[in-house]
Amino acid sequence: MKFLEDHAIWTEKVLNLEEIQSFLSVIAERERISSESLPEIVVMVLPYPRNGIDSPIAHGSYLPRRNQIRIYPGLASWEELEGTTDPDVRSFSEVVSKSGAQFAQRHVLTVIHELLHVKYGHDENLVDEMSEGYLGEFLAGLKCQQTRSASGSEPVLGAAPSDPEVP
Ligand SMILES: [Zn+2]
Repeated sequence: MKFLEDHAIWTEKVLNLEEIQSFLSVIAERERISSESLPEIVVMVLPYPRNGIDSPIAHGSYLPRRNQIRIYPGLASWEELEGTTDPDVRSFSEVVSKSGAQFAQRHVLTVIHELLHVKYGHDENLVDEMSEGYLGEFLAGLKCQQTRSASGSEPVLGAAPSDPEVP
C-alpha cells in the first residue's frame, strides 16, 4: 500500500511539472478548450478496476459529467519502478533518467489523450492519433530546450520565433 501511495504522489508531481503543465496549456489553447472546461486531473492510488491487476500501463479515463481526468497506475509499472520514483523530481528529463523514457512518456501520453477526449468525445481513433502527434511535439520541444541550454542562451537556428526563451 505504501508503494501505491508513493507512486501516486510521484505521479502527481510528474504531471504538475512545469514542462508538462505548460504543454497541456498549449494543447488547450490550440484545441480551443476554454479554461472553464479544463478538467481537473486526479491521480488515483489503486489501478483501474476494470483492467484487472495485470494491466501493464497507466490508465487514464475522462469523466465528462464531473469534468475530471483520472490517472490510474498500471501494475507492471510498479514492478518496473520499485525504488525509481523519486518524490523530489524537478524536471521531465530527471523523470526520464530515473524511471526510463518509455515509462515517463506513457504518463504524458495518457494525460494528453484524456485531455483530447474533452474536445473529441468518443472518437478514439482520432484521439489516439492526435495524442501521438502531440507527444512527438512535446518531446521535440524538450530536445530543443536541451540543445539551447547546452549552447548557452543562444536560440537554436530554425526555432520558431514565438518559442519562449529558456532563462
Ligand atoms: Zn481514449
